[in-house]
Amino acid sequence: MEKTNARFMRRVDALGRVVIPKALRDALDVQPGQAAEMYVREGCLVVQSWTPGCVFCGETRDLSDHLGKLVCARCGEQLRRRAAPATLHRRSRPEARGA
Ligand SMILES: [Zn+2]
Repeated sequence: MEKTNARFMRRVDALGRVVIPKALRDALDVQPGQAAEMYVREGCLVVQSWTPGCVFCGETRDLSDHLGKLVCARCGEQLRRRAAPATLHRRSRPEARGA
């Protein structure tokens, strides 16, 4: 990531779009096609490259898919501990069906 203190003025277009100058995209490591996270902090728009993270704690390492959501190893372990009793109760016994 490059450092820059440059300031730019850009107009917001009719659809609310603003072009992020290349120098700032490069400094933020935001590339075309990549997701960028935006939010307001202390009255300023913050734009930063978006990295997928755990839906519970935001951790970005050791992620796995849990029912279509990214979950880190630690939160995944907590989910498994809490889900275990319910999973046991929901199990069906196929041998008892269709007799
Ligand atoms: Zn987590």
